[in-house]
Amino acid sequence: MGNRRMFKCKRCEQPTISVFDKYKMGLWREVHCSNCNARLADNPVVLGAFHFLAYVQMVAWFAALTYIYHDSKYLLYIVAFWIVFDILGVLLVPMVVLRPKPLST
Ligand SMILES: [Zn+2]
Repeated sequence: MGNRRMFKCKRCEQPTISVFDKYKMGLWREVHCSNCNARLADNPVVLGAFHFLAYVQMVAWFAALTYIYHDSKYLLYIVAFWIVFDILGVLLVPMVVLRPKPLST
């Protein structure tokens, strides 16, 4: 396994982030770098805009077409676009380094 399929940590620049980790960030999860232990997440502004502009608009559009034309093939388009958006999100949404959690006192 080469490092080409890994994403670089935003803090230490080491290729420690797997595609699956990056995908989890797209689900609003945080991921810890195995090298520097930074808390990493997808940029919430970009991710939020992406979810609203891509997923919500797309699902609303094809759901409307399904309703208007009574044709369930549009539901398959939702699944297809959903997968495409997931891949685009993994590739395009930038990472941010989160602040360390405050120590509980
Ligand atoms: Zn790191």
